[in-house]
Amino acid sequence: MLEHKVVKVHLKNTFRTAHGAADVKHQVIVNIEGGLGEAAPVAYYGESIDTISDFVEKAADLIGDDVFKLEDIIDRLNHFRAYNTAAKAAIDIALHDAVGTKLNIPVYKMLGITAREDIPTSYTISISDPDDMKRQTEENPGYEIYKIKVGVPGDIDMVAAVREATDARIRVDANAGWTLKEAVQKIKHLERYDIEFVEQPLHWHDYEGFRILRSKSNLPIIADEGIMDAGSIALYNDKVDGINIKLQKSGGIREGFKMIAVARALKMQIMIGCMVETSVGISAAAQLAPLVDYIDLDGNLLIDDDPYDGVRAENGYLKYPDRPGIGVVEKG
Ligand SMILES: [Mg+2]
Repeated sequence: MLEHKVVKVHLKNTFRTAHGAADVKHQVIVNIEGGLGEAAPVAYYGESIDTISDFVEKAADLIGDDVFKLEDIIDRLNHFRAYNTAAKAAIDIALHDAVGTKLNIPVYKMLGITAREDIPTSYTISISDPDDMKRQTEENPGYEIYKIKVGVPGDIDMVAAVREATDARIRVDANAGWTLKEAVQKIKHLERYDIEFVEQPLHWHDYEGFRILRSKSNLPIIADEGIMDAGSIALYNDKVDGINIKLQKSGGIREGFKMIAVARALKMQIMIGCMVETSVGISAAAQLAPLVDYIDLDGNLLIDDDPYDGVRAENGYLKYPDRPGIGVVEKG
């Protein structure tokens, strides 16, 4: 039995990246036998509330009556339609939550993972004028890591402004906003601001650009937008230092877990990230977080009216609730 609903959430600050801006987000929440999952539509991957709703309505018949048959169900979803990874993620997460809840254990335990609460997560400063970005940083103190969205004109000044407001670690994400030439120059400038790494400097299919950039950059390069599933990781072998896994791109926890194995085999660093997601999506990603090098799970912190309570960053560290499944409950 699969039910779904659309949830509207408001963002604390207008969320701006090189891809666009938003104040309000609509998410699809899926419920399978009490297990919850979330789809966060991303327009540049071709998904919307309509495509996700259509997918989950039609996929309901493919779930069957045994949520433990995760591998078979996900196979059926992949054969039913390619792509649609956010819709698939919602179903995959709901299935994991349902299985964990039936077994009365958290999903990370189901997967043989030890929960760790000592890896800091970053807080994202969205694109604005430098003064406002400095203010955003000052109004959200105490994080060990800030992530700055760049990839737009004037971005080096924005990084400088945030650096004035904090001594914490800073990582930047250009969201495919630079050309190779710009990236080489900007990264040279960024080196003076003590930057941890640069995420997605180039267009996601510019594999040769990544190879050249990596040879010219003193900062580590992390690929995000072009990293979808396990198969996509090999395309970036020797061209980047690491990858960013997001459940909304991978189609859920199961593929995300496989991606970690592939990336480790290729000696890549691993980051786990998110879209703007409620505590449903964030808590699901947090189940895999103890296995990675960099955590960027602040999507629920950017939302003013998150309808759910689950894994949450407190003072920059993930706190796992003592509940089975992905540990999420609807707020009362
Ligand atoms: Mg990114």
